[in-house]
Amino acid sequence: MGALIDRLLNGVLIVDSTLRPLYANRELLRLLGLPDAEPLLQPGGLGRFLPEDNRQILLDMTNRLLSRQSLRATQRLEVVRADKSTLWLDFSAALARWADRDVVQIAVLDATERVTHESELEFNRAQLENQAVELVALAEDLNAEREQLEAARQDADEGQRFLQTLIATIPNPFFHQDLEGKVRGCNAAFAALHGRVHRTDLFGLAVRDLSDPAFASRTEKLDAELLAKGGNVFYEAVSVDAEGRARTMIYNKAVLTDAAGQAVGLVAVITDITEQKRMEEALRRLATTDPLTGALNRRAFMDAARRDLALAQRHGEPLTVALADIDHFKRVNDLHGHATGDEALKQFVGTVQGALRASDVLGRMGGEEFALILPHTALASAMLLAERLRQTLATLRVRGPSGEVDFTVSIGLAELGTHGTTIDTLLQAADEALYRAKSAGRNRVIAA
Ligand code: GH3
Ligand code: MG
Ligand code: MG
Repeated sequence: MGALIDRLLNGVLIVDSTLRPLYANRELLRLLGLPDAEPLLQPGGLGRFLPEDNRQILLDMTNRLLSRQSLRATQRLEVVRADKSTLWLDFSAALARWADRDVVQIAVLDATERVTHESELEFNRAQLENQAVELVALAEDLNAEREQLEAARQDADEGQRFLQTLIATIPNPFFHQDLEGKVRGCNAAFAALHGRVHRTDLFGLAVRDLSDPAFASRTEKLDAELLAKGGNVFYEAVSVDAEGRARTMIYNKAVLTDAAGQAVGLVAVITDITEQKRMEEALRRLATTDPLTGALNRRAFMDAARRDLALAQRHGEPLTVALADIDHFKRVNDLHGHATGDEALKQFVGTVQGALRASDVLGRMGGEEFALILPHTALASAMLLAERLRQTLATLRVRGPSGEVDFTVSIGLAELGTHGTTIDTLLQAADEALYRAKSAGRNRVIAA
């Protein structure tokens, strides 16, 4: 049996109930790194090769077999070889009879490679497990990302809807156009501005299709400049609306870019400031003119007079100042009522303005006293004009409740340079001449 067992590929060890080796084959000795069985067959000889814990495991296993609690037992244990290197061995034990007593026969197989292999497998498995964990984490990340993207998309959708609603709702005409200047989108206000019912009627049209050539040319030039330099721009322009009315608009335009920052067109928001302009103009008029007659008020007249004086002095041009005062105006009011007096004042201004040149300036200095600036006019010409005015005004008939009313004026004149060099001194000189005209019997023109 020994020879047969010796040729087996696995090691064989026979132990008694105390784990004392009774026999070890050549393969086992080789596994343990022993030249012969001598050290192993000593009492406790196995202890050199098995750490205490492992020896106990093997002893328990042996006792379970000897007491017939189990028929077979296997155990993988690490052993320390004679040269102190370690080895994993599979111990497969079974009850056997040896020299007429119960012994335990153990087949011993080198498991190192398997252990290594298994540890490799274990390593791979752990790696796979890690990878699996990572994959799960990745999947979770991806899911979170997907959810974020979804949320972002919903936000974007919401933002998009918000924008669309806003654009559709805002009263400002709004549009965007491509690089060729063709409308790609707009709101109802923009369509209405061009007399269209449907927004889509405007799509594909360019400014040249929608506006007069002068406006179109200016717009094309400004758009090209904006596209070249980027950013945004705003400017005022007058365009003609669908009903042919000129409207003053403020155009706010910005370059529209794609995700890569490349210009793809323009967006524009239009603010119609026609009403504001009208109100501004009304306010300006209110601040500068006399509400009853429409002539400049004293302050505006003085501003205009100073400007014209400065111009005349710079260019060496003649300029004459005139002061006109209605004669016995108190009587007009007293005899015909204040309203008739007002009407007379309006007719006075209307008549004088009708006789003046565009560059002449008429101002109401207070009550029934008016002043005139006559640029480019020397005293002699101014006298002729004043005389003509005096005569014309004398022919006016103002309708009152008790019949028609007429009136006359007295006019005093002063020439720039000759009678003064400032508006104040000229007005003073003209006032003195006027006073003399009144004293001389009224209804006359007198130079300072
Ligand atoms: P004189 O020939 O000396 O200038 O006599 P006058 O009556 O015109 O002179 P005075 O300055 O004494 O009177 C001016 C009158 O003009 C007094 C005032 O009742 C009247 N008046 C001033 N402003 C207005 C106005 O806005 N409406 C009307 N209806 N009357 C005015
Ligand atoms: Mg008067
Ligand atoms: Mg007066």
